[in-house]
Parts: sequence; structure tokens; C-alpha cells
Amino acid sequence: MAEDKIPTRAEDFSEWYNQLVLKAELADYSPVRGCMVVRPYGWALWENITSWLDREFKNTGHVNAAFPTLIPMSFFEKEKEHVEGFSPELAVVTHGGGEKLEEPLVVRPTSETIIGYMYSKWVKSWRDLPILIVQWGSVLRWELRTKLFLRTAEFYWHEGHTAHAAKDEALEEMYRILDIYENFAINEAALPVFKGRKTDAEKFAGAQITTSIEAMMQDKRALQSGTSHYFGTNFAKAFNIQYLDKSNALQFCETTSWAISSRIIGAIIMTHGDDQGLVLPPRLAPIQAVIVPIYKSEAEKSKVMADANKVFAELKAAGIRLKMDDREEVTPGFKYNDWEMRGVPLRIEIGPKDVEKGSVALARRDIAGKSGKTFVPQTNLAATVNGLLTEIQSSLLKRATDFRDSNIFDPKTYDELKTIVQNGWAFSWWCGSKECEAKVKEDTKATTRNIPFEQPGDTGRCIVCGEKAEKKVYFARAY
Ligand SMILES: [Zn+2]
Repeated sequence: MAEDKIPTRAEDFSEWYNQLVLKAELADYSPVRGCMVVRPYGWALWENITSWLDREFKNTGHVNAAFPTLIPMSFFEKEKEHVEGFSPELAVVTHGGGEKLEEPLVVRPTSETIIGYMYSKWVKSWRDLPILIVQWGSVLRWELRTKLFLRTAEFYWHEGHTAHAAKDEALEEMYRILDIYENFAINEAALPVFKGRKTDAEKFAGAQITTSIEAMMQDKRALQSGTSHYFGTNFAKAFNIQYLDKSNALQFCETTSWAISSRIIGAIIMTHGDDQGLVLPPRLAPIQAVIVPIYKSEAEKSKVMADANKVFAELKAAGIRLKMDDREEVTPGFKYNDWEMRGVPLRIEIGPKDVEKGSVALARRDIAGKSGKTFVPQTNLAATVNGLLTEIQSSLLKRATDFRDSNIFDPKTYDELKTIVQNGWAFSWWCGSKECEAKVKEDTKATTRNIPFEQPGDTGRCIVCGEKAEKKVYFARAY
């Protein structure tokens, strides 16, 4: 439980993360190696993520559908012929009902192939376009080295798959979704991210353009937090998705796909968490505030509980996600640690003195100790609490942004870059050649994260070879 300490981030960041996930009761290990069990608290967090995204997708004209988990093996062979480098680690079903199957079935590593197949049946004419479908579900990739939320064999996500008549429309769709992802990351998850384009070496197999949002974790490693791809007509050709245009000529569709996965929970943990445990942004927190009543005698209890119940009812009516911790078997101090470990943004303490004064004590999760504590009147408490939650949300974003920006450097030489990427990011001119990119990876294990859309506007010299460079790129070691 929350009483035993987790390692500090400085001691062992990786172990800090592992133990935090377990002790905050977000997820647990499954009996199947590499799979995870998402516990109710973790799932509640995921639901707050998915419901926001789902609403945005629907607001921009998308619809949800469900495709089957099992996909014929031949679909992947067909894809391989068209898509160089596409080789997810597949889990294959060879038997069903005690009998060997005629054709093995693959547990979906992504639904691209089955959706492409179905689109080829559904799309006949330009009138059938665009198709803007999102699937929510899980997929499976046979990962050997796993870590809860960050890399598990089975993980949860949405996958958007769209088909369009015109190239412009498909490109617009890819950027529209990336904007939604950026908005989500910054304003809901308080994750400062860079929006940009992946290099050819780092893009998704088969995509003509891959765009991403990239975040910096507290160990200064990068985490790709969402991707949006434009395929041109590559997938349409592999799966024969064709339509008759207005002049009755047969054309291949332009397609996109995009995803954010349950990995984003790992990003939230590693961006905001501290040595006491999880720190959640109020807009996503399953519990935004917890009320802890404090009393010693029965006489105190009845007075304190009367106020606590009144406060609970008022805040709940105001739409604040709330928990009353009236457990009698544990001390208030235990409860404080417990909710700190779970990252609840605000604690509301009510004791006998508060009842006398008509006040409560508010303790912020993001600011430890006395400086995070204020005493406020019970009147208009909902407005006070809402105001404070908004302030916590923006202060988390600011803290993460300051941290990120103070760990990005502009090395003057290649040797300097090699040192920097061991404990930070480098934002450097790059000539665009695969060789220079590969050299950095080989020498430092750092990869190009993305070529941000926001560029200095001038030109420079490649940090690796010294040739003329048009773009700056982020180099970092990544999860
Ligand atoms: Zn170069």
C-alpha cells in the first residue's frame, strides 16, 4: 500500500515508474508475459482520455465502427508485397475448436488490412467518399521487452482510417487530426509537445508522410505521443480501394491513418509524477478532489461529518469529480499519503477548528507541504475549488514546459551533440541525408524525433557533415 516508499526518480527512474504504476493501482502484470491488466483507477483515467478524443472526432465528422480481432494471414502477405518494412511481431491462431485451421489467423497488430479490405467492398463511386471511421479497441504485438503502459504486447488505442477522393483532403485530414492530438496533449494532459514531420527513416512503413507529437519525460527521454499518417494511394493499391470519379474514370483512394494509444498514460506519469507518486492534471484526473474529515471524539465526528457532507454535496452538484474518504480504520496521515500516491490534484481537509470557523483547508498535490496549503471559507467553495483546479492544470503545463525548454540545447559541434543527447535533447540543423541521421543513431542511440513545423526560417550547416541544411530537427533518446 501507500505506506511503503517508492524509489526516488533520481535513484532509479525506471523502478520509480514501475512501482508507481503498481502502487497507484493503475495497472498490474498479467499471467501472460508482456500483457497488462488495467485496474479500475487506470481505466477511469483512460476513459477521461478517450471520451475527450471521441467527442472531438465526432465533432469533426468521424464515426465509430468495430472490426474483428482475427485477420486472415494472407492479408499480411499481401500487405508485405506492397509495403516495404512492414513487419509487426504477429501472434497467430492456428487451431480453432480443436482443429487445425485451413488458413492461419492473425490477432490484429493494427486493423489497416481488414479495414482496407472492407473499404474496397464499400467504396464504388466518389459519392461514397470520404469514409471517416474510427475504431476503439486493443491490438497485439509480440513484444519481448515490455513495460506497463509504455510497451505491452496488447495495448489499447483508437485507430482512425480514412479514405478520400482528393490528395488535398487526405492531407488536410492528417493535419486536422494532428491538431486534435496537440490540443489534447497540451490542454487536457498538460504535456507540452512538438508537432512535426517524421524523417523518412522514422516514418511509419508504407506512409508517404508521418507526423507526430513528441514529448519530453523527466528523465529527458522523448516519447512519441501520437501519430497521424498520409499514405497517398499506397494502401489503396495494396487493397484495391477504387472509386469512379465524376467523369466515370476509375481512381485509387487517398488514405490516412492515425492513433493515440494507452502509452499516453505512461507519458502523463513520467511528465508530472514526483517522488510521492502520481500527479494527475485535473482535467483528466478520475478524482479531482478528495475530502478528508479529521476528528478524535464522537462529538467532533458528528460536527465534522455534517460539514463534510454538506461540502461534498455542494462540490458534487458543481460537477467536480469527488471522493469522500471517511475510512475509520486508517489515520488522516495515511489517507494523505494514499491520495498523494494516486495523484489526486486537491485534498480538502475538514477538522473541528474548520467547523468553528466555517472554513476548510485545501492542499495542492502539485506543491508539497505548507506552501501548497490554503485555508478558505466554505461559502462559494465550488468556485474556489474550480479556480484552484484550473490553476493547478496550468501550473503543471508551465512546469513541464519550463523543464523541457531548459533541457533542449543547440550544440555548436558534433562532439557537443554527442554529449548533450545523453542527458537532454539537441535541436540541430540537419542536411536531410539518411547517412547523417544514421550516424547520430549509431554513435549515440539518439534518433530524430521530428522536424518541427515551427522552424527558424533561415538556413544553417548540418551538425554532422557541415553541409548546407534547410531544417532543424530534434535529436533525442526515446522510449
Ligand atoms: Zn549532414
